[in-house]
This record gives sequence, C-alpha cells and structure tokens, in this order.
Amino acid sequence: MNDVLDVIIIGAGTAGLSALHQVRKRTSRFVIINDEPWGTVCARVGCMPSKVLIEAANAFHRRTSFAEFGITGDEHLAVNLPAVLRRVRRLRDEFVRGVIKLTADLGENAISGRARLLGPDRVEVNGRELRARRIILATGSSPVVPAAWRALGGRLLTSDTLFEQDDLPARIAVVGLGAIGVEIAQALSRLGIDVIGFDGVRTIAGLTDPAVNGVAIDLLAREFPMHLGTNVELAEVGGDVRVRAGEVEATVDRVIAAIGRRPNIDDIGLELLGVELDERGLPPYNPVTQQIGELPVYLAGDVNGHAPLQHEASDEGYIAGLNATRPDVACIARRIPLSIVFADPNIAAVGKRFEELEGTGFIAGEVDFGDQGRARAAQRNRGLLRIYAQRDDGRLLGAEMCAPGGEHLAHLLAFAVQLGLTVHELLRLPFYHPVLEEGLRTALRDLTKQLAWNADSDLAACEAHGVEALD
Ligand SMILES: Cc1cc2nc3c(=O)[nH]c(=O)nc-3n(C[C@H](O)[C@H](O)[C@H](O)COP(=O)(O)OP(=O)(O)OC[C@H]3O[C@@H](n4cnc5c(N)ncnc54)[C@H](O)[C@@H]3O)c2cc1C
Repeated sequence: MNDVLDVIIIGAGTAGLSALHQVRKRTSRFVIINDEPWGTVCARVGCMPSKVLIEAANAFHRRTSFAEFGITGDEHLAVNLPAVLRRVRRLRDEFVRGVIKLTADLGENAISGRARLLGPDRVEVNGRELRARRIILATGSSPVVPAAWRALGGRLLTSDTLFEQDDLPARIAVVGLGAIGVEIAQALSRLGIDVIGFDGVRTIAGLTDPAVNGVAIDLLAREFPMHLGTNVELAEVGGDVRVRAGEVEATVDRVIAAIGRRPNIDDIGLELLGVELDERGLPPYNPVTQQIGELPVYLAGDVNGHAPLQHEASDEGYIAGLNATRPDVACIARRIPLSIVFADPNIAAVGKRFEELEGTGFIAGEVDFGDQGRARAAQRNRGLLRIYAQRDDGRLLGAEMCAPGGEHLAHLLAFAVQLGLTVHELLRLPFYHPVLEEGLRTALRDLTKQLAWNADSDLAACEAHGVEALD
C-alpha cells in the first residue's frame, strides 16, 4: 500500500467508524488506524457500561419505595457488588463485540497502532509512512488526571478503570460532578457505597439554570453529601486517601476523578499542519463541514471538544466521511443540542441553555413535578422542568430539567425546538392521561400565560369550520 490512498481515518471510535461507513461506500483505497483497544469509548468505558451500572443501582434503589407501596421484605435484599460489576463487563463485552464486527472484514485496511500526522497528507504509524488525499482525525478524548494525583496509583480511578474493578471498597470520593461524575456518584451510592461528591464549581451535571441546578443539588444531596465551590486536594495517608476541600476533610478508600476529558492530541502532530492552534492546542475547524481551515484534513468527535456526546461524534464522523470522499466540501446542518445525564431524576438540556439566553428577554415556563399525578403514583414526584421561549411569538428555544422521565421529555422538546414550533403549536398536539408528559404541558401552559397572545384553549379552531354542525 505504498501509493497515495484516498482517505486515512485516525481513530476507530464512534466518529471514526461513522466516517468509515461513508468512506467505504465510495472507495476501497482507505485505511483506518486505531491505537488499541478497538471497540469505542462509548461501548468499552463510556455510555454503555455506565448505563448498565446505573440500571443495577436504580433497581436496588427501588426498594426504598416498597413500604409506601405496601410491599414488605426489602430488608432481605442485598447488593453483590462483584456480581453487579461482572454483569457490567459481560454486557460491555457483548456491546464491544458488536462494534468490533464493523471492522473485522477490513484486512490490511485496518491498522492497529498509534498514528501521527507528518503533514496534511502524510501519516506515520508503526514506523511506516502513509500518504492520502484526505485525512480524518477522530482520536477522541481521555479523562483529565492532574499529575499530582497520579501518585495515588490504584487508589485513583477514572471511567477508564472503574468498570474493570472486581469489587469496590466501602468509601469512595467522586471528584467532579459533571455528567459523568453525577451518574457514577449516584449509582455507587445507590449500590450501598459511602459516596462523597466534590466539585470546584456550584453547578452540577452541566446545568446552567439556577432553579433547576438548585433542585438537582437538593435531590442528589439527599442521597450522598456533596461539597461544591471548592477545589480538592488529595493525599495518601496510611493507605487511605484524604480529600480536602476548604474546611471539609474526608477519608476514603478510592477516589474517582471525573473532572473532565481532554482531546487526544498529544504528539499527534497538529503543529505540522501549518495552521495556528488555539490555547488548547486545537486547530480552527468548521463544525458544519468538519474541515480544518482549507486543508484536506477533518476533525470529528470528542477530539474537537465541540460537543462530546455519542450522537454528535457519530454525526461529525458522517460529515467528515462524506466530505473526505467528495470533490467539493458539503455543509451539513447540525441537529439542535440535546444532552442527557442519566441521574434519577434525569437531568437534561435541550436547545439553548439558560446561560445563553440570559439578558435576551426570553420567557420561561415551568412545572414542579411534586404534585404531578402520574409521578405521584410511581413515587417519582420530584423535579423541575423549565422551558424557554421567545416572548414575542412563543417560539420554543430550549429547556433544562431535572425531572422524572426527563430523557423522554427532553427528546420531545428537542423535536419541537428543532422543528421551530411555538408553545401553542406544541400544545395543540395530543397529550394522553395520565402520563409524565402532562407535566410538560403544564410548563407549556405556564409559558402561554406570559405571552402577549394567549389562546383560551390548547385546541386550534377549524378554519371556517367547513363542518356543517359547527358553522
Ligand atoms: C463514562 C462515560 C459515559 C458516557 N455516557 C454517554 C452517554 O450516556 N451518552 C452520550 O451521548 N455520550 C456519552 N459519553 C460520551 C461518548 O462516549 C463520547 O462522546 C464518544 O465516545 C466519542 O467518540 P469518539 O469517536 O470521538 O472517540 P472515541 O470513541 O474515544 O474513539 C477514539 C479512538 O481513537 C483512538 N486513538 C487515539 N489517539 C490515537 C492515535 N494517535 N492513533 C490511532 N488511534 C488513536 C483511541 O484509542 C480510540 O479508539 C460518555 C463518556 C464517558 C467516558
């Protein structure tokens, strides 16, 4: 394979595989290079194993509502942590096997090794130099671990190592309460581990709406203590780890570092592309073409730091794969933002976030799920949903929530925002009874009260009726 290839894809994660799917349709003159292991972060150590762990935790947590339902005997239930973790790995392995199948037939088009750019058309891997007309860089991201914390050795875990543990100790500190930290902290706490959470800022799970953030903090703090607004210092003391955050001090067996992820760009050769890099070391790229400047190089997935989520990585891989195999560069419209944190209640954000809208004269409608009928029936009546809309015409802009069934409500709202619907247009659609979605309707009706024009019914009038009985 000494000739010039059409495409080199670096990284076989979600973005790289999505690019591969497009590239394979149009050329056989490509390679995909992946530093071991294959199988994607999402399937191996990300979305999937974390959700398997969360499902076990929530299943066990349900016992806390049994007495109220009139079910007895919950005191006989127990968690077998090694068994929980074995199931996490068993399912994880199945998911990974499914992903690995996608590249199993590639033969010498798939190369295991660490790639490095030598220029906009050259890549070095395993001591070989490869040339290509286009290059897709999809190398993903890795957990941030400050150098000083590495001295803790095996006492310090990240999402890369957590699911590999055969068992877990009694006391764990989770440092960083963004999406990943919140999910892990609540799950481990629900599995009976003494969890203590820390974050340097006073917002959690990426929320920016102070009201929703306050509710999320209040609800999670009922399950495990959280200390926000102070950075932590970690030290090994007599085999344990001492965590200090201002006045707060805790002694734990393990610390999970969840303080963020950084693009995998170390030693990747971005400086050889001949474009200026920003303070993070990233080149300028266009999020609707994925192209780096005017170069034949595309940046897709977590590596560009744009929206480190699985569906975004997949879309970016698609766009990069398409553009790397076309004579001209196509602009592909991106979907509206949607992010979900699988805490209970779910925490989610749709479209424009509160912080983006502040000062723009938008209106917010809300529902507190405390009194919502279906949520009460299920003992899930906790949480707040806030929907944002334009004051003049009621066009939906976005939402933040910490709400039961939030993952589904967020999808409905995302569809509505992307379709450009107004509050009234969404209210005209059917809402069944009794469902959690009625909470969404309550928040929409709250919005209508603030609009200049407020219909006295959710229903639209039949134009000129056209129905004899109604005319
Ligand atoms: C714990 C956790 C939970 C998550 N949960 C969710 C969730 O519920 N929903 C959601 O949408 N997202 C979730 N995510 C985020 C999601 O997993 C990522 O956005 C997605 O995996 C990014 O895909 P990617 O293709 O950019 O990178 P990756 O899947 O990381 O792929 C990058 C690949 O490039 C390889 N590579 C790196 N450097 C080189 C090199 N120099 N040469 C060759 N190969 C290289 C790596 O080995 C890797 O295989 C979660 C992440 C974590 C960590």
